[in-house]
Amino acid sequence: MKLVFATHNPNKLIELQKLVPPSLELISLETLGCHEAIPETENTLEGNARLKANYITNTYQLPCFADDTGLLVTSLNGEPGVLSARYAGPENNAQANMSKLLTKLEGSTDRSAYFKTVIALNLNGETHIFEGKVDGEITMSQYGEQGFGYDPIFKPTGYDQTFAQLPLSEKNKISHRGRAFQKLIAYLKHTNVTR
Ligand code: IMP
Repeated sequence: MKLVFATHNPNKLIELQKLVPPSLELISLETLGCHEAIPETENTLEGNARLKANYITNTYQLPCFADDTGLLVTSLNGEPGVLSARYAGPENNAQANMSKLLTKLEGSTDRSAYFKTVIALNLNGETHIFEGKVDGEITMSQYGEQGFGYDPIFKPTGYDQTFAQLPLSEKNKISHRGRAFQKLIAYLKHTNVTR
């Protein structure tokens, strides 16, 4: 079966294709010929995930899933949340986003935060939602070179390294996105669409 993953990020697709049986063929937006950035205009992660999945299903008449992720900092009432990618401006600059967050947290004693991923899957005329979450804290400065986004300033609970210091295989096991994907894959296997 062909299933569209509504992402322009080839790494996300490659990572996930390794985890599903080969009978389930994940199709990227590029393969589909969809080169536009689907606007994320909703004010929740679930709203944006639904928006992207519905756009593809309605336009191409194909089953599809989409994900949306945010970093939610407790003492900032859930900021940057749904605005995580463009926290410091529309350029989606990871360094500027981290600097802004570290500045906002100066003097704060509560540095707890979590990443949350929401996946919306359109299959057989129904939408299914899957969530993954990882708790942790925002470090005082940046550590590590790997990963992307806020990885150098996020230390998951139970670890003494940031996501940018942990091996990718370790991050994927415990990450928000990894956990949400595991739920999606379990559901797809359960519904036998992978056979
Ligand atoms: P997206 O919905 O996966 O595009 O994620 C939105 C934004 O959240 C990204 O641009 C990053 O700033 C941040 N983000 C998402 N996942 C991660 C992660 O695994 N590590 C660090 N930052 C992330």
